[in-house]
Amino acid sequence: MITSSRQIANEVNYTTHLEEALSLVVKRSCSVMDADACFVYIHDTQNDRFILMAADPVMSEATGKVEPGCNEGLVGWVALHEEVINLPNAADHPGFRDISNSGNGFFHGFLGVPIVYHGHTIGVLVAQKIKKCSFSNDDAAFFTTLAFQLGEAIHSLLAKWDLSRRLNEPLPGRMLIYGIPCAPGLSMGNIVLSQPADLQSTPDRIAQDIESEVQAFRAAVMAAKNELYAGKKRMRANLADETLSLFDGYIMMVESDRFINGAVTRIRNGQWARGALRDTIFEMAAVFEKMDDPYLAARSEDIRNIGRQVLVHLQQASPESRTYPNQSILAGVEVSVSEISIVPRDRLAGVVSVKGSALSHTAIICRALGIPAVMGLTDLVIGNFEGCNLSVDGSQGLVCVNPSAVDIDEFRQRVEEEQAVASQLETLRHLPAQTLDGMQIPIHVNLGVGSDELSVNAKGYEGVGLYRTEYFFIARNTLPTEDEQYRLYRDLLKFFAPKPVTVRTLDTGGDKNLPFSTIAETNPFLGRRGIRFTLDHTGIFLTQLRALLRANAGIGNLQILFPMISRIHEIDAAISLLDRAYADLAAEGHAAAKPHIGAMIEVPSAVYVISELATRVDFFSIGTNDLTHFLLAVDRSNPSVQGFNDNLHPAVVHVVADIIQKAHRQNKPVGVCGEMAGDPASALLLLGLGVDWLSMSPSSLPRIKWTIRNFTMQQVRGLAGKALEIDNETDTQQLLNFALKAAGLGVLVREA
Ligand code: PEP
Ligand code: MG
Repeated sequence: MITSSRQIANEVNYTTHLEEALSLVVKRSCSVMDADACFVYIHDTQNDRFILMAADPVMSEATGKVEPGCNEGLVGWVALHEEVINLPNAADHPGFRDISNSGNGFFHGFLGVPIVYHGHTIGVLVAQKIKKCSFSNDDAAFFTTLAFQLGEAIHSLLAKWDLSRRLNEPLPGRMLIYGIPCAPGLSMGNIVLSQPADLQSTPDRIAQDIESEVQAFRAAVMAAKNELYAGKKRMRANLADETLSLFDGYIMMVESDRFINGAVTRIRNGQWARGALRDTIFEMAAVFEKMDDPYLAARSEDIRNIGRQVLVHLQQASPESRTYPNQSILAGVEVSVSEISIVPRDRLAGVVSVKGSALSHTAIICRALGIPAVMGLTDLVIGNFEGCNLSVDGSQGLVCVNPSAVDIDEFRQRVEEEQAVASQLETLRHLPAQTLDGMQIPIHVNLGVGSDELSVNAKGYEGVGLYRTEYFFIARNTLPTEDEQYRLYRDLLKFFAPKPVTVRTLDTGGDKNLPFSTIAETNPFLGRRGIRFTLDHTGIFLTQLRALLRANAGIGNLQILFPMISRIHEIDAAISLLDRAYADLAAEGHAAAKPHIGAMIEVPSAVYVISELATRVDFFSIGTNDLTHFLLAVDRSNPSVQGFNDNLHPAVVHVVADIIQKAHRQNKPVGVCGEMAGDPASALLLLGLGVDWLSMSPSSLPRIKWTIRNFTMQQVRGLAGKALEIDNETDTQQLLNFALKAAGLGVLVREA
């Protein structure tokens, strides 16, 4: 039974149309269960009611008509209570309501199960029997499991369905979509898909020129077939004959009439080649998917792989999505750090993505570059948006597809207002961050993401608190040489001298993979990242350390920061490699100078060994992005848990207080370079807790200076003292918001 529910869910996963998916669900459920009829109701969020979307046996007169309110009828009852009900006679239940046109008076046995996505009931599955008898435990288990498995897929299909209905409206399909605000600012432009879409998110599109689509499809199939032949030849020496015969199976598949004719017929019916390929592949995969034999069922994955292989060739034949027109809004399921780095800066107007959140590195880069970004949008929607007009409000996390003339007017007005506020704040950029009672707080900047960072404007910064070197590595196809790195670091140190420049050694891994890396980890955030990576690859590490030491010669403003320290051994090993690099340079006659050494505190275990670390380093820098991620067990890149990722959680407040106290006890200064430092409310708290400096994206600098210049140290210490007594993040946020408002800085408030 359970296997059957998985098979159905898999089939649904590879369905591209909502109606098709739902009728598949009811049909299959009816055949698996001892039921006389099955139904799927979907929540109509606009009118808060449930609509019957599919029934088996088909009841065309009822489909789309039965619309109980959210708390009416048994369907409403299941949704409201988010509970399974299994009744011998539906009419005996107090929630029963006779809906004349549904034919439900005919049935007695009733099984209703909610379909839930991220805590919301998006639909209800119903099975009914004519007999007065409830469903067996096996049937109830099957149906409940199926509903659980369907949540994600139905949510995605609903988003696409909703959009395609709107896009088919006669008026341009204006649509507002909320996501997560990830980088402030407003912009408008046209969607450019960030990377080749996979089959699942390939959009529907009408073929403009049917013959050339057919030709493109045939050419892509031929290219894929040639690759398979070449692959078989290459592998001949290493594989047994029976394994090699797999290639023959694949070749037969791409040559098969079923595949070729299926896709060509779809193209001739008006679908473009990529959409026709997708539908044909999914149809063929579904045949295997349904098989009980696990070996045969697994062949469906082979079919999809071949589909992807053909898709790559189709995309290469028409690589229009890789060019970046003016005002490009880069959109994708997941927009990578490396892709942002290759889009010409003057063409990139915004970033929108399905995955990612405010603390993902893509978001950090967008903020640093001043590119508005909204993340946490639904994937299939993105595929269908290609080429659409889009306005992006990165402050509110709102995007508007095909904005109307009124929207555009309002938008322009807001841009003007924001520019006015920004230019007022801009006057503070180079003023000291001095509290009302005269305490001056060093405010440093986080750099490393763009080539134009060393502008005249940057001359006024008080220092660099975090230079992320990984982006220099990511924006290339090979590792940088020692001399290339030397030039980069030398220019940087010279530019800011004598102000301090904290350069962090290569912090790759997690969501910052080197594009040429072959490391594949199931859980990269907990993998060989940061210092673990560089200690694994001492050649890469030594090259960087040598370049840094040489760059510091005769200037002396370098501070080296080691990322992701989780144990004493790592700092010892890193320092010993630094010493070795220094000794080697001296022996070779190169000028070099030793820097101050710091450790990032961003892994919880480091907090517990901080006293030992303090005997080895000169300073600490708290990476609140990763520290919060690990402490609260919340993936910083996963939009669905973004609501849990709050650095005002009491655990974060207390751990920061502990770090500062332990470090100060050994006379070691502590700064904060995570995104928390650039948030006005959090910055107040950090100052009150005793942090020695803050380092942030240059875009956050003016508002943080404005904040600090409106408070006394006594006030911020008082706020921190109160925050340490509070047991939840909402109240702490309110406490700090209240203080900001009372100081006349209400525009800086982020509501809890
Ligand atoms: C942090 O984790 O807070 C940090 C500053 O490092 P990154 O965001 O680059 O991981
Ligand atoms: Mg980090």
